Amino acid sequence: MEVIITYDLYQWLALAWMGIGILVFFYLFIQTAPYGRHTTTSWGPLIDNRLGWFIMEFTVLLVLYGWLLLIRFNLSITSWLMIGLFTFHYLNRSFVFPLRIRTSGKKMPFLIALMAIVFNLMNGSLLGIYFAWFADYPDNWVYDPRFIAGILLFITGMAINWHADTRLINLRKPGETGYKIPHGWLFKYISCPNLFGEIIEWLGFAILTWSLPGVVFFVWTFANLVPRAFAHHRWYRNHFSDYPPNRKAVFPFIW
Ligand code: NDP
Repeated sequence: MEVIITYDLYQWLALAWMGIGILVFFYLFIQTAPYGRHTTTSWGPLIDNRLGWFIMEFTVLLVLYGWLLLIRFNLSITSWLMIGLFTFHYLNRSFVFPLRIRTSGKKMPFLIALMAIVFNLMNGSLLGIYFAWFADYPDNWVYDPRFIAGILLFITGMAINWHADTRLINLRKPGETGYKIPHGWLFKYISCPNLFGEIIEWLGFAILTWSLPGVVFFVWTFANLVPRAFAHHRWYRNHFSDYPPNRKAVFPFIW
């Protein structure tokens, strides 16, 4: 099947989507997305938390690979390396993370899963179309300082994100459902090292791909995670009178 999209149209769609991401950033300071500790029963039907994570996050891989199959699958080795990094992150997020979390019996609004699916449909499409159609990296791109700096940030961010998620998950013994104050390591400085790590990771991806969809994805990640980190931070302060007063929300010593 032949799909035609000009770069001009693609660029406008990507920029419009990024503009929506910036509006969402401000909106999320007013309305916290109700999942995890902020979950609510007032957002309509609920679904199992683990299932929610799986369907929300697996969508992006389905869409990305769907576009590649539809348009072009024989890409440069550099493009495949980039897609591999993205895939590695999302295999963890959609399969491994939901199996590891200790949230038995917990639910999330179906509407939240649906919104995340839309987010992933758009991002997966922008990346899939970009790699299948427009990306044109020379093989020696992997020696470019942008690729090297980007991949170092990506790996550092991913390591922080995974380690922080692991520490948070292990705060609960199997079967427990409550919340505790995390201590030590980056938690000494910020409430949400996992969200900090994820922001660094996608900043790295934007730099290593040096691409519009990379930037758009980073803007959306920032827009989702910074307000969420502030909501988590506020929640900790409201629920624990002995919460460390000097800890910041997401960026050490800053915010
Ligand atoms: P949280 O830090 O709220 O939760 C991570 C896990 O740890 C959950 O299972 C949570 O349980 C548990 N947990 C967290 N804090 C505590 C605590 N103090 N005591 C006991 N258990 C705790 O992360 P989010 O749900 O906000 O995000 C999860 C992951 O998804 C992160 O890695 C984040 O970076 C990523 N993400 C990425 C987005 C993007 O746009 N790229 C958007 C949203 C998330 P419970 O669920 O019961 O609260």
